[in-house]
Amino acid sequence: MISRVCDLDVLIIGGGHNGLVCAFYLARAGLKVRVLERRGVVGGAAVTEEFHPGFRNSVAAYTVSLLNPKVVADMQLARHGLTVVERRLANFLPIDESRYLVTGGGRTQAEVAKFSSRDGDRLDAYGERLEVIADVLRGLVLETPPNVTRDGWTAAIPELLKSATIGRRMAHLDMTGRRDLLALFAQSAGDWLDGWFESDPIKAVFGFDGVVGAYASPYTPGTAYVLLHHVFGEVNGRKGAWGHAIGGMGAITQAMAAACREAGVEITTDAAVGEVLVEKGRAVGAVTAGGESVRARAVVSNLHPQLLFQKLIDPAVLPADFRERIERYRSGSGTFRMNVALSELPRFTCLPEAGDHLTAGIIMAPSLAYMDQAYIDARTRGWSKAPIVEMLIPSTLDDTLAPPGRHVASLFCQHVQPRLSGGRSWDDCRDEVADLMIETVDRHAPGFKASVLGRQALTPLDLERTFGLVGGGIFHGKLELDQLFSARPVLGHGAYRGPVAGLYLCGAGTHPGGGVTGAPGWVAAREILKDFKRGHHRPAV
Ligand SMILES: Cc1cc2nc3c(=O)[nH]c(=O)nc-3n(C[C@H](O)[C@H](O)[C@H](O)COP(=O)(O)OP(=O)(O)OC[C@H]3O[C@@H](n4cnc5c(N)ncnc54)[C@H](O)[C@@H]3O)c2cc1C
Repeated sequence: MISRVCDLDVLIIGGGHNGLVCAFYLARAGLKVRVLERRGVVGGAAVTEEFHPGFRNSVAAYTVSLLNPKVVADMQLARHGLTVVERRLANFLPIDESRYLVTGGGRTQAEVAKFSSRDGDRLDAYGERLEVIADVLRGLVLETPPNVTRDGWTAAIPELLKSATIGRRMAHLDMTGRRDLLALFAQSAGDWLDGWFESDPIKAVFGFDGVVGAYASPYTPGTAYVLLHHVFGEVNGRKGAWGHAIGGMGAITQAMAAACREAGVEITTDAAVGEVLVEKGRAVGAVTAGGESVRARAVVSNLHPQLLFQKLIDPAVLPADFRERIERYRSGSGTFRMNVALSELPRFTCLPEAGDHLTAGIIMAPSLAYMDQAYIDARTRGWSKAPIVEMLIPSTLDDTLAPPGRHVASLFCQHVQPRLSGGRSWDDCRDEVADLMIETVDRHAPGFKASVLGRQALTPLDLERTFGLVGGGIFHGKLELDQLFSARPVLGHGAYRGPVAGLYLCGAGTHPGGGVTGAPGWVAAREILKDFKRGHHRPAV
Protein backbone atom coordinates (compact mmCIF):
# COMPACT_ATOMS: atom_id res chain seq x y z
CA MET A 1 0.00 0.00 0.00
CA ILE A 2 1.34 3.41 -0.91
CA SER A 3 1.36 5.95 1.92
CA ARG A 4 0.04 9.40 1.11
CA VAL A 5 2.07 12.22 2.58
CA CYS A 6 0.91 15.33 0.74
CA ASP A 7 -2.30 16.67 -0.63
CA LEU A 8 -1.89 15.75 -4.28
CA ASP A 9 0.20 12.76 -5.28
CA VAL A 10 0.16 13.12 -9.05
CA LEU A 11 -0.61 16.01 -11.35
CA ILE A 12 -1.27 14.98 -14.95
CA ILE A 13 -0.90 17.67 -17.58
CA GLY A 14 -3.24 16.92 -20.48
CA GLY A 15 -6.49 15.00 -20.53
CA GLY A 16 -5.95 13.10 -23.76
CA HIS A 17 -6.94 9.44 -23.64
CA ASN A 18 -3.45 8.44 -22.41
CA GLY A 19 -3.57 11.01 -19.62
CA LEU A 20 -6.95 9.61 -18.56
CA VAL A 21 -5.77 6.00 -18.68
CA CYS A 22 -2.70 6.88 -16.62
CA ALA A 23 -4.84 8.82 -14.12
CA PHE A 24 -7.24 5.92 -13.73
CA TYR A 25 -4.57 3.33 -12.90
CA LEU A 26 -2.82 5.67 -10.46
CA ALA A 27 -6.05 6.55 -8.67
CA ARG A 28 -7.10 2.92 -8.56
CA ALA A 29 -3.83 2.17 -6.75
CA GLY A 30 -4.79 4.69 -4.06
CA LEU A 31 -3.05 7.86 -5.24
CA LYS A 32 -4.69 11.26 -5.26
CA VAL A 33 -4.64 12.40 -8.87
CA ARG A 34 -5.64 15.58 -10.68
CA VAL A 35 -5.77 16.14 -14.45
CA LEU A 36 -5.45 19.61 -16.00
CA GLU A 37 -6.73 19.82 -19.58
CA ARG A 38 -6.24 22.85 -21.80
CA ARG A 39 -9.43 22.43 -23.86
CA GLY A 40 -13.02 22.60 -22.66
CA VAL A 41 -13.33 18.86 -23.23
CA VAL A 42 -11.10 15.90 -22.37
CA GLY A 43 -10.04 13.35 -24.97
CA GLY A 44 -7.31 15.11 -26.95
CA ALA A 45 -7.47 13.87 -30.54
CA ALA A 46 -10.17 11.34 -29.60
CA VAL A 47 -13.24 13.57 -29.27
CA THR A 48 -16.70 13.96 -30.77
CA GLU A 49 -17.80 17.50 -31.59
CA GLU A 50 -20.61 19.28 -33.38
CA PHE A 51 -18.82 20.66 -36.43
CA HIS A 52 -21.97 21.86 -38.24
CA PRO A 53 -25.36 22.58 -36.63
CA GLY A 54 -27.01 19.22 -35.94
CA PHE A 55 -24.03 17.17 -37.19
CA ARG A 56 -21.50 15.58 -34.85
CA ASN A 57 -18.42 13.55 -35.69
CA SER A 58 -15.14 12.26 -34.38
CA VAL A 59 -13.34 15.35 -35.56
CA ALA A 60 -9.74 14.01 -35.50
CA ALA A 61 -9.16 10.29 -34.77
CA TYR A 62 -12.10 8.50 -36.33
CA THR A 63 -11.81 4.71 -36.15
CA VAL A 64 -11.09 2.17 -33.40
CA SER A 65 -8.91 -0.89 -33.45
CA LEU A 66 -5.78 -0.25 -31.50
CA LEU A 67 -7.48 0.41 -28.14
CA ASN A 68 -5.93 -2.13 -25.80
CA PRO A 69 -8.40 -4.80 -24.55
CA LYS A 70 -6.82 -4.70 -21.07
CA VAL A 71 -7.58 -0.98 -20.81
CA VAL A 72 -11.15 -1.54 -22.05
CA ALA A 73 -11.69 -4.24 -19.43
CA ASP A 74 -9.93 -2.60 -16.46
CA MET A 75 -11.67 0.74 -16.96
CA GLN A 76 -14.98 -1.05 -17.58
CA LEU A 77 -15.59 1.17 -20.54
CA ALA A 78 -18.66 -0.79 -21.62
CA ARG A 79 -20.28 -0.15 -18.21
CA HIS A 80 -19.41 3.52 -18.67
CA GLY A 81 -21.33 3.60 -21.94
CA LEU A 82 -18.90 2.49 -24.67
CA THR A 83 -20.16 0.30 -27.50
CA VAL A 84 -17.93 -0.48 -30.44
CA VAL A 85 -19.41 -1.98 -33.60
CA GLU A 86 -17.52 -3.51 -36.49
CA ARG A 87 -17.65 -2.21 -40.00
CA ARG A 88 -19.65 -4.56 -42.21
CA LEU A 89 -16.83 -4.52 -44.77
CA ALA A 90 -13.24 -3.55 -44.01
CA ASN A 91 -12.29 -1.50 -47.07
CA PHE A 92 -13.73 -0.37 -50.37
CA LEU A 93 -11.35 0.79 -53.07
CA PRO A 94 -13.10 2.43 -56.03
CA ILE A 95 -10.72 2.25 -58.99
CA ASP A 96 -12.45 3.60 -62.08
CA GLU A 97 -15.95 3.75 -63.59
CA SER A 98 -16.50 0.01 -63.35
CA ARG A 99 -13.79 -1.59 -61.24
CA TYR A 100 -13.50 -1.75 -57.46
CA LEU A 101 -12.17 -3.96 -54.68
CA VAL A 102 -13.86 -4.68 -51.39
CA THR A 103 -12.20 -6.47 -48.47
CA GLY A 104 -13.64 -8.07 -45.35
CA GLY A 105 -16.97 -9.78 -44.74
CA GLY A 106 -15.51 -13.06 -46.01
CA ARG A 107 -15.21 -11.63 -49.53
CA THR A 108 -11.53 -10.66 -49.70
CA GLN A 109 -10.16 -13.72 -51.48
CA ALA A 110 -12.74 -13.74 -54.28
CA GLU A 111 -12.47 -9.98 -54.67
CA VAL A 112 -8.67 -9.99 -54.91
CA ALA A 113 -8.84 -12.90 -57.36
CA LYS A 114 -10.81 -10.60 -59.74
CA PHE A 115 -7.42 -8.91 -60.32
CA SER A 116 -5.00 -11.79 -59.73
CA SER A 117 -5.82 -15.36 -58.76
CA ARG A 118 -2.21 -15.73 -57.57
CA ASP A 119 -2.71 -12.81 -55.16
CA GLY A 120 -5.99 -14.31 -53.97
CA ASP A 121 -4.17 -17.56 -53.21
CA ARG A 122 -1.40 -15.77 -51.29
CA LEU A 123 -3.71 -13.84 -48.95
CA ASP A 124 -3.93 -16.48 -46.24
CA ALA A 125 -0.16 -16.94 -46.07
CA TYR A 126 0.29 -13.15 -45.98
CA GLY A 127 -2.21 -12.81 -43.16
CA GLU A 128 -0.64 -15.64 -41.17
CA ARG A 129 2.92 -14.32 -41.52
CA LEU A 130 1.91 -10.76 -40.61
CA GLU A 131 -0.10 -12.05 -37.67
CA VAL A 132 2.96 -13.84 -36.23
CA ILE A 133 4.81 -10.53 -36.14
CA ALA A 134 1.75 -8.55 -34.99
CA ASP A 135 1.51 -10.96 -32.05
CA VAL A 136 5.10 -10.22 -31.03
CA LEU A 137 4.24 -6.54 -31.18
CA ARG A 138 1.06 -7.03 -29.13
CA GLY A 139 3.24 -8.66 -26.50
CA LEU A 140 5.58 -5.69 -26.50
CA VAL A 141 3.10 -2.84 -26.36
CA LEU A 142 2.54 -3.24 -22.65
CA GLU A 143 6.24 -3.77 -21.84
CA THR A 144 8.47 -0.98 -20.57
CA PRO A 145 11.33 -0.74 -23.05
CA PRO A 146 14.75 -1.36 -21.50
CA ASN A 147 16.25 2.01 -20.77
CA VAL A 148 19.70 2.77 -22.09
CA THR A 149 21.44 4.05 -19.02
CA ARG A 150 24.82 5.59 -18.21
CA ASP A 151 24.39 5.15 -14.49
CA GLY A 152 26.59 2.11 -13.88
CA TRP A 153 25.79 -1.54 -13.18
CA THR A 154 23.13 -1.11 -10.51
CA ALA A 155 20.99 0.79 -13.00
CA ALA A 156 22.01 -1.33 -15.99
CA ILE A 157 21.23 -4.79 -14.56
CA PRO A 158 17.41 -4.43 -14.42
CA GLU A 159 17.49 -3.00 -17.94
CA LEU A 160 19.54 -5.94 -19.19
CA LEU A 161 17.03 -8.32 -17.58
CA LYS A 162 14.23 -6.50 -19.41
CA SER A 163 16.16 -6.89 -22.69
CA ALA A 164 16.52 -10.60 -21.97
CA THR A 165 12.74 -10.96 -21.45
CA ILE A 166 12.11 -9.25 -24.76
CA GLY A 167 14.83 -11.31 -26.41
CA ARG A 168 13.03 -14.47 -25.24
CA ARG A 169 9.86 -13.34 -26.99
CA MET A 170 11.80 -12.90 -30.22
CA ALA A 171 13.45 -16.29 -29.69
CA HIS A 172 10.06 -17.93 -30.14
CA LEU A 173 10.07 -16.81 -33.76
CA ASP A 174 11.42 -19.27 -36.31
CA MET A 175 13.86 -18.07 -38.98
CA THR A 176 11.04 -17.01 -41.32
CA GLY A 177 9.51 -14.96 -38.52
CA ARG A 178 12.82 -13.33 -37.68
CA ARG A 179 13.39 -12.39 -41.31
CA ASP A 180 9.87 -10.97 -41.53
CA LEU A 181 10.42 -8.99 -38.34
CA LEU A 182 13.62 -7.49 -39.71
CA ALA A 183 11.93 -6.70 -43.02
CA LEU A 184 8.97 -5.05 -41.34
CA PHE A 185 11.20 -2.85 -39.22
CA ALA A 186 13.55 -1.83 -42.00
CA GLN A 187 11.76 -2.01 -45.36
CA SER A 188 9.29 0.21 -47.12
CA ALA A 189 5.65 -0.89 -47.16
CA GLY A 190 5.89 -0.87 -50.97
CA ASP A 191 8.86 -3.24 -51.10
CA TRP A 192 7.24 -5.52 -48.53
CA LEU A 193 3.97 -5.66 -50.47
CA ASP A 194 5.63 -5.97 -53.90
CA GLY A 195 7.33 -9.06 -52.50
CA TRP A 196 3.93 -10.60 -51.78
CA PHE A 197 1.49 -9.44 -54.44
CA GLU A 198 1.38 -8.51 -58.12
CA SER A 199 -1.94 -6.64 -58.51
CA ASP A 200 -2.31 -2.98 -57.61
CA PRO A 201 -5.64 -2.84 -55.73
CA ILE A 202 -4.76 -5.14 -52.81
CA LYS A 203 -1.35 -3.50 -52.47
CA ALA A 204 -3.11 -0.13 -52.30
CA VAL A 205 -5.49 -1.29 -49.56
CA PHE A 206 -2.69 -2.73 -47.43
CA GLY A 207 -0.21 0.00 -48.37
CA PHE A 208 -2.53 2.79 -47.21
CA ASP A 209 -1.75 1.76 -43.62
CA GLY A 210 1.94 2.34 -44.35
CA VAL A 211 1.51 6.01 -45.26
CA VAL A 212 -1.22 7.04 -42.84
CA GLY A 213 0.07 9.94 -40.80
CA ALA A 214 3.60 9.23 -41.98
CA TYR A 215 4.21 11.94 -44.60
CA ALA A 216 6.09 9.40 -46.67
CA SER A 217 5.92 7.53 -49.94
CA PRO A 218 4.94 3.89 -49.56
CA TYR A 219 8.46 3.30 -50.91
CA THR A 220 10.13 5.21 -48.06
CA PRO A 221 12.12 2.76 -45.88
CA GLY A 222 10.48 2.37 -42.50
CA THR A 223 6.88 2.57 -43.75
CA ALA A 224 6.48 -1.21 -43.42
CA TYR A 225 6.64 -0.60 -39.66
CA VAL A 226 3.85 1.99 -39.91
CA LEU A 227 1.79 -0.65 -41.74
CA LEU A 228 2.52 -3.14 -38.96
CA HIS A 229 1.63 -0.57 -36.29
CA HIS A 230 -1.86 -0.38 -37.81
CA VAL A 231 -2.55 -4.13 -37.76
CA PHE A 232 -1.87 -5.06 -34.15
CA GLY A 233 -5.28 -3.93 -32.95
CA GLU A 234 -8.58 -5.72 -32.57
CA VAL A 235 -12.29 -4.99 -32.24
CA ASN A 236 -14.39 -6.95 -29.77
CA GLY A 237 -11.77 -9.72 -29.81
CA ARG A 238 -11.38 -9.87 -33.63
CA LYS A 239 -7.70 -9.25 -34.36
CA GLY A 240 -6.83 -6.71 -37.03
CA ALA A 241 -10.47 -5.51 -37.37
CA TRP A 242 -11.47 -1.82 -37.32
CA GLY A 243 -14.66 -0.55 -35.81
CA HIS A 244 -16.72 2.42 -34.83
CA ALA A 245 -17.46 3.71 -31.33
CA ILE A 246 -21.16 4.57 -31.12
CA GLY A 247 -21.29 8.32 -30.50
CA GLY A 248 -17.84 8.72 -32.05
CA MET A 249 -14.35 8.63 -30.54
CA GLY A 250 -15.52 10.99 -27.81
CA ALA A 251 -17.58 8.09 -26.43
CA ILE A 252 -14.30 6.33 -25.62
CA THR A 253 -12.79 9.27 -23.80
CA GLN A 254 -16.03 10.24 -22.04
CA ALA A 255 -16.25 6.65 -20.76
CA MET A 256 -12.61 6.94 -19.65
CA ALA A 257 -13.34 10.22 -17.86
CA ALA A 258 -16.30 8.58 -16.07
CA ALA A 259 -14.06 5.68 -14.99
CA CYS A 260 -11.49 8.20 -13.74
CA ARG A 261 -14.03 10.19 -11.74
CA GLU A 262 -15.38 7.00 -10.21
CA ALA A 263 -11.81 6.11 -9.16
CA GLY A 264 -11.50 9.54 -7.50
CA VAL A 265 -9.58 11.50 -10.15
CA GLU A 266 -10.23 15.24 -10.21
CA ILE A 267 -10.44 16.53 -13.80
CA THR A 268 -10.25 20.23 -14.58
CA THR A 269 -10.89 21.43 -18.13
CA ASP A 270 -10.10 24.89 -19.56
CA ALA A 271 -6.91 24.70 -17.50
CA ALA A 272 -3.91 25.12 -19.81
CA VAL A 273 -0.60 24.59 -18.07
CA GLY A 274 1.84 27.39 -18.81
CA GLU A 275 4.80 26.15 -16.83
CA VAL A 276 6.07 23.07 -15.04
CA LEU A 277 7.47 24.03 -11.64
CA VAL A 278 10.96 22.70 -11.05
CA GLU A 279 12.67 23.26 -7.71
CA LYS A 280 16.11 21.95 -6.77
CA GLY A 281 16.13 19.83 -9.91
CA ARG A 282 12.77 18.23 -9.18
CA ALA A 283 9.33 18.70 -10.78
CA VAL A 284 6.98 19.78 -8.00
CA GLY A 285 3.89 20.98 -9.84
CA ALA A 286 2.65 23.33 -12.50
CA VAL A 287 1.15 26.76 -13.00
CA THR A 288 -1.85 27.21 -15.25
CA ALA A 289 -2.24 30.05 -17.73
CA GLY A 290 -4.92 31.35 -15.36
CA GLY A 291 -2.31 31.61 -12.59
CA GLU A 292 -3.31 28.63 -10.44
CA SER A 293 -0.32 26.91 -8.91
CA VAL A 294 -0.80 23.18 -8.34
CA ARG A 295 1.80 21.22 -6.40
CA ALA A 296 2.17 17.46 -6.40
CA ARG A 297 4.64 14.73 -5.51
CA ALA A 298 4.98 13.74 -9.15
CA VAL A 299 4.15 15.45 -12.45
CA VAL A 300 3.10 13.50 -15.54
CA SER A 301 2.85 14.95 -19.03
CA ASN A 302 0.45 13.66 -21.65
CA LEU A 303 1.74 16.27 -24.10
CA HIS A 304 3.74 15.97 -27.28
CA PRO A 305 7.37 15.80 -26.00
CA GLN A 306 8.37 18.97 -27.86
CA LEU A 307 5.50 20.93 -26.29
CA LEU A 308 6.55 19.81 -22.84
CA PHE A 309 10.28 20.28 -23.11
CA GLN A 310 10.38 23.32 -25.38
CA LYS A 311 7.43 25.33 -24.08
CA LEU A 312 6.70 24.38 -20.48
CA ILE A 313 10.08 23.82 -18.86
CA ASP A 314 12.89 26.22 -18.16
CA PRO A 315 15.61 25.10 -20.62
CA ALA A 316 18.24 25.69 -17.94
CA VAL A 317 17.05 22.63 -16.00
CA LEU A 318 17.42 20.28 -18.98
CA PRO A 319 20.73 18.69 -20.01
CA ALA A 320 22.07 20.29 -23.19
CA ASP A 321 22.35 17.00 -25.12
CA PHE A 322 18.73 16.18 -24.24
CA ARG A 323 17.54 19.59 -25.45
CA GLU A 324 19.37 19.04 -28.72
CA ARG A 325 17.72 15.63 -29.28
CA ILE A 326 14.28 17.07 -28.52
CA GLU A 327 14.98 19.86 -30.99
CA ARG A 328 15.73 17.21 -33.62
CA TYR A 329 12.79 14.97 -32.72
CA ARG A 330 10.81 14.53 -35.92
CA SER A 331 7.10 15.23 -35.86
CA GLY A 332 4.69 16.06 -38.64
CA SER A 333 2.09 14.18 -40.66
CA GLY A 334 1.05 14.79 -44.22
CA THR A 335 -2.51 14.77 -43.02
CA PHE A 336 -5.40 17.07 -43.89
CA ARG A 337 -8.56 16.15 -42.00
CA MET A 338 -12.10 17.06 -43.04
CA ASN A 339 -15.52 16.50 -41.54
CA VAL A 340 -18.49 16.90 -43.84
CA ALA A 341 -22.25 17.07 -43.28
CA LEU A 342 -24.09 15.33 -46.12
CA SER A 343 -27.65 15.59 -47.38
CA GLU A 344 -27.44 12.05 -48.77
CA LEU A 345 -25.13 9.07 -49.12
CA PRO A 346 -22.59 9.19 -51.96
CA ARG A 347 -23.20 7.10 -55.08
CA PHE A 348 -19.96 5.67 -56.43
CA THR A 349 -19.94 5.24 -60.21
CA CYS A 350 -18.41 1.78 -59.90
CA LEU A 351 -20.91 0.64 -57.20
CA PRO A 352 -23.78 3.15 -57.07
CA GLU A 353 -26.33 1.50 -54.81
CA ALA A 354 -26.17 1.94 -51.04
CA GLY A 355 -24.71 -1.12 -49.36
CA ASP A 356 -22.17 -2.47 -46.91
CA HIS A 357 -19.31 -0.88 -48.84
CA LEU A 358 -20.45 2.48 -47.43
CA THR A 359 -19.69 1.25 -43.89
CA ALA A 360 -16.10 0.51 -44.92
CA GLY A 361 -12.95 2.61 -45.01
CA ILE A 362 -13.28 3.94 -48.54
CA ILE A 363 -9.79 4.42 -49.96
CA MET A 364 -9.49 6.71 -52.97
CA ALA A 365 -5.94 5.90 -54.08
CA PRO A 366 -5.89 2.97 -56.49
CA SER A 367 -2.22 1.98 -56.39
CA LEU A 368 1.08 2.37 -54.57
CA ALA A 369 2.38 4.34 -57.57
CA TYR A 370 -0.49 6.84 -57.08
CA MET A 371 0.47 7.18 -53.39
CA ASP A 372 4.14 7.62 -54.29
CA GLN A 373 3.21 10.42 -56.70
CA ALA A 374 0.99 12.02 -54.06
CA TYR A 375 3.99 12.24 -51.77
CA ILE A 376 6.30 13.61 -54.49
CA ASP A 377 3.69 16.27 -55.36
CA ALA A 378 3.36 17.30 -51.73
CA ARG A 379 7.10 17.55 -51.26
CA THR A 380 7.45 19.75 -54.30
CA ARG A 381 4.18 21.74 -54.37
CA GLY A 382 2.83 21.73 -50.82
CA TRP A 383 0.02 19.25 -51.47
CA SER A 384 -0.80 16.44 -53.86
CA LYS A 385 -2.52 17.21 -57.16
CA ALA A 386 -4.19 13.81 -56.83
CA PRO A 387 -4.41 13.21 -53.07
CA ILE A 388 -5.04 10.03 -51.13
CA VAL A 389 -8.44 10.27 -49.46
CA GLU A 390 -9.86 7.75 -47.04
CA MET A 391 -13.53 8.40 -46.36
CA LEU A 392 -15.53 6.90 -43.54
CA ILE A 393 -19.26 7.46 -43.19
CA PRO A 394 -19.88 6.60 -39.53
CA SER A 395 -23.56 7.55 -39.73
CA THR A 396 -24.10 4.33 -41.73
CA LEU A 397 -23.39 2.48 -38.45
CA ASP A 398 -24.50 5.06 -35.91
CA ASP A 399 -27.69 7.13 -35.99
CA THR A 400 -26.61 9.44 -33.14
CA LEU A 401 -24.40 11.64 -35.32
CA ALA A 402 -26.67 13.22 -37.95
CA PRO A 403 -30.34 14.15 -38.29
CA PRO A 404 -32.54 11.38 -39.75
CA GLY A 405 -31.83 10.79 -43.43
CA ARG A 406 -28.63 12.86 -43.31
CA HIS A 407 -25.05 11.68 -42.90
CA VAL A 408 -21.60 12.67 -41.70
CA ALA A 409 -18.30 11.64 -43.23
CA SER A 410 -14.67 11.83 -42.15
CA LEU A 411 -12.15 12.54 -44.89
CA PHE A 412 -8.64 11.53 -43.87
CA CYS A 413 -6.51 13.01 -46.63
CA GLN A 414 -2.79 12.63 -47.39
CA HIS A 415 -0.37 14.13 -48.52
CA VAL A 416 0.18 17.74 -47.62
CA GLN A 417 3.28 19.42 -46.24
CA PRO A 418 3.19 19.55 -42.43
CA ARG A 419 4.60 23.10 -42.67
CA LEU A 420 3.98 24.83 -45.95
CA SER A 421 7.11 25.87 -47.83
CA GLY A 422 7.59 29.02 -49.88
CA GLY A 423 6.47 31.44 -47.18
CA ARG A 424 2.86 30.27 -47.51
CA SER A 425 0.54 29.75 -44.54
CA TRP A 426 -2.03 27.01 -44.17
CA ASP A 427 -4.45 29.77 -43.13
CA ASP A 428 -4.34 31.04 -46.73
CA CYS A 429 -4.53 27.65 -48.46
CA ARG A 430 -7.06 25.77 -46.30
CA ASP A 431 -10.09 26.35 -48.55
CA GLU A 432 -8.27 25.62 -51.81
CA VAL A 433 -7.07 22.26 -50.48
CA ALA A 434 -10.45 21.47 -48.92
CA ASP A 435 -12.06 22.04 -52.35
CA LEU A 436 -9.52 19.69 -53.92
CA MET A 437 -10.37 16.94 -51.41
CA ILE A 438 -14.10 17.30 -52.11
CA GLU A 439 -13.44 17.25 -55.90
CA THR A 440 -11.37 14.08 -55.45
CA VAL A 441 -14.30 12.29 -53.85
CA ASP A 442 -16.69 13.78 -56.41
CA ARG A 443 -14.70 12.23 -59.26
CA HIS A 444 -15.46 8.76 -57.84
CA ALA A 445 -18.96 9.64 -56.64
CA PRO A 446 -20.48 12.40 -58.82
CA GLY A 447 -22.97 14.48 -56.84
CA PHE A 448 -20.92 14.23 -53.65
CA LYS A 449 -19.88 17.87 -53.84
CA ALA A 450 -23.49 18.99 -54.21
CA SER A 451 -24.48 16.91 -51.18
CA VAL A 452 -22.10 18.72 -48.81
CA LEU A 453 -24.19 20.85 -46.41
CA GLY A 454 -21.29 21.93 -44.24
CA ARG A 455 -17.63 21.20 -43.79
CA GLN A 456 -14.75 21.54 -41.35
CA ALA A 457 -11.19 21.46 -42.68
CA LEU A 458 -8.24 20.87 -40.37
CA THR A 459 -4.81 21.56 -41.84
CA PRO A 460 -1.65 20.41 -40.05
CA LEU A 461 -1.51 23.91 -38.54
CA ASP A 462 -5.06 23.53 -37.22
CA LEU A 463 -4.20 20.13 -35.73
CA GLU A 464 -1.27 21.76 -33.98
CA ARG A 465 -3.29 24.72 -32.70
CA THR A 466 -6.35 22.76 -31.63
CA PHE A 467 -4.86 19.53 -30.30
CA GLY A 468 -1.22 20.39 -29.62
CA LEU A 469 0.06 18.05 -32.35
CA VAL A 470 3.37 19.57 -33.43
CA GLY A 471 3.50 19.80 -37.24
CA GLY A 472 0.10 18.07 -37.25
CA GLY A 473 1.96 14.89 -36.20
CA ILE A 474 -0.89 12.52 -35.44
CA PHE A 475 1.34 10.12 -33.46
CA HIS A 476 3.17 12.78 -31.32
CA GLY A 477 6.30 12.16 -33.40
CA LYS A 478 7.20 9.99 -36.34
CA LEU A 479 7.12 6.22 -35.96
CA GLU A 480 10.63 5.68 -37.25
CA LEU A 481 13.23 3.29 -35.93
CA ASP A 482 15.31 5.91 -34.10
CA GLN A 483 12.14 7.22 -32.39
CA LEU A 484 10.67 3.90 -31.27
CA PHE A 485 10.83 1.64 -28.24
CA SER A 486 13.79 2.56 -25.95
CA ALA A 487 14.39 5.63 -28.13
CA ARG A 488 10.89 7.10 -27.76
CA PRO A 489 11.12 10.01 -27.34
CA VAL A 490 14.88 10.04 -26.72
CA LEU A 491 17.35 7.20 -26.14
CA GLY A 492 18.19 7.19 -22.44
CA HIS A 493 14.67 8.33 -21.55
CA GLY A 494 12.60 5.51 -23.02
CA ALA A 495 11.12 4.42 -19.71
CA TYR A 496 8.53 7.22 -19.26
CA ARG A 497 10.87 9.25 -17.03
CA GLY A 498 12.11 12.64 -18.16
CA PRO A 499 15.55 14.04 -17.33
CA VAL A 500 14.10 15.92 -14.34
CA ALA A 501 13.34 13.97 -11.15
CA GLY A 502 9.65 13.57 -10.48
CA LEU A 503 8.69 14.23 -14.11
CA TYR A 504 7.09 11.50 -16.23
CA LEU A 505 5.68 11.18 -19.73
CA CYS A 506 2.57 9.16 -20.58
CA GLY A 507 1.51 10.28 -24.08
CA ALA A 508 1.89 8.95 -27.59
CA GLY A 509 5.44 10.33 -27.71
CA THR A 510 6.43 7.37 -25.51
CA HIS A 511 6.42 3.63 -26.27
CA PRO A 512 4.46 2.19 -28.06
CA GLY A 513 3.57 5.43 -29.84
CA GLY A 514 0.47 6.89 -31.41
CA GLY A 515 -3.05 5.71 -31.99
CA VAL A 516 -5.92 5.47 -29.57
CA THR A 517 -4.36 2.54 -27.69
CA GLY A 518 -4.20 3.59 -24.04
CA ALA A 519 -0.94 1.64 -23.89
CA PRO A 520 1.50 4.50 -23.11
CA GLY A 521 -0.84 5.68 -20.35
CA TRP A 522 -1.07 2.23 -18.81
CA VAL A 523 2.66 1.41 -18.91
CA ALA A 524 3.58 4.88 -17.63
CA ALA A 525 1.23 4.40 -14.66
CA ARG A 526 2.93 1.11 -13.85
CA GLU A 527 6.36 2.79 -13.86
CA ILE A 528 5.14 5.71 -11.73
CA LEU A 529 3.61 3.33 -9.19
CA LYS A 530 6.90 1.44 -8.98
CA ASP A 531 8.66 4.68 -8.08
CA PHE A 532 6.04 5.53 -5.46
CA LYS A 533 6.46 2.09 -3.94
CA ARG A 534 10.24 2.57 -3.90
CA GLY A 535 9.65 5.76 -1.92
CA HIS A 536 11.02 8.06 -4.63
CA HIS A 537 8.39 10.74 -4.10
CA ARG A 538 8.68 12.78 -0.98
CA PRO A 539 6.17 15.45 0.06
CA ALA A 540 6.11 18.45 -2.25
CA VAL A 541 4.63 21.08 0.01
C1 LIG B 1 -6.47 13.62 -37.69
C2 LIG B 1 -6.13 12.43 -36.84
C3 LIG B 1 -6.66 11.20 -37.14
C4 LIG B 1 -6.34 10.09 -36.37
N1 LIG B 1 -6.97 8.90 -36.61
C5 LIG B 1 -6.83 7.89 -35.73
C6 LIG B 1 -7.68 6.77 -35.79
O1 LIG B 1 -8.61 6.73 -36.61
N2 LIG B 1 -7.49 5.77 -34.91
C7 LIG B 1 -6.50 5.80 -33.96
O2 LIG B 1 -6.35 4.85 -33.18
N3 LIG B 1 -5.70 6.89 -33.85
C8 LIG B 1 -5.85 7.94 -34.70
N4 LIG B 1 -5.11 9.08 -34.56
C9 LIG B 1 -4.01 9.10 -33.59
C10 LIG B 1 -4.47 9.29 -32.17
O3 LIG B 1 -5.60 10.11 -32.13
C11 LIG B 1 -3.38 9.92 -31.30
O4 LIG B 1 -2.16 9.26 -31.48
C12 LIG B 1 -3.81 9.86 -29.84
O5 LIG B 1 -5.03 10.56 -29.67
C13 LIG B 1 -2.77 10.43 -28.90
O6 LIG B 1 -3.31 10.38 -27.59
P1 LIG B 1 -2.62 11.07 -26.36
O7 LIG B 1 -3.55 10.93 -25.21
O8 LIG B 1 -1.25 10.54 -26.19
O9 LIG B 1 -2.46 12.59 -26.77
P2 LIG B 1 -3.52 13.68 -27.23
O10 LIG B 1 -4.76 13.04 -27.72
O11 LIG B 1 -2.80 14.58 -28.16
O12 LIG B 1 -3.86 14.46 -25.89
C14 LIG B 1 -2.99 15.42 -25.32
C15 LIG B 1 -3.84 16.34 -24.49
O13 LIG B 1 -3.02 17.34 -23.88
C16 LIG B 1 -3.73 18.58 -23.90
N5 LIG B 1 -2.80 19.69 -23.75
C17 LIG B 1 -1.92 20.19 -24.67
N6 LIG B 1 -1.23 21.22 -24.14
C18 LIG B 1 -1.67 21.37 -22.88
C19 LIG B 1 -1.33 22.27 -21.82
N7 LIG B 1 -0.39 23.20 -21.97
N8 LIG B 1 -1.99 22.16 -20.63
C20 LIG B 1 -2.93 21.22 -20.43
N9 LIG B 1 -3.30 20.34 -21.42
C21 LIG B 1 -2.67 20.42 -22.61
C22 LIG B 1 -4.40 18.55 -25.26
O14 LIG B 1 -5.45 19.48 -25.35
C23 LIG B 1 -4.87 17.11 -25.31
O15 LIG B 1 -6.13 16.95 -24.71
C24 LIG B 1 -5.44 10.21 -35.29
C25 LIG B 1 -4.94 11.47 -34.96
C26 LIG B 1 -5.29 12.58 -35.72
C27 LIG B 1 -4.76 13.92 -35.33
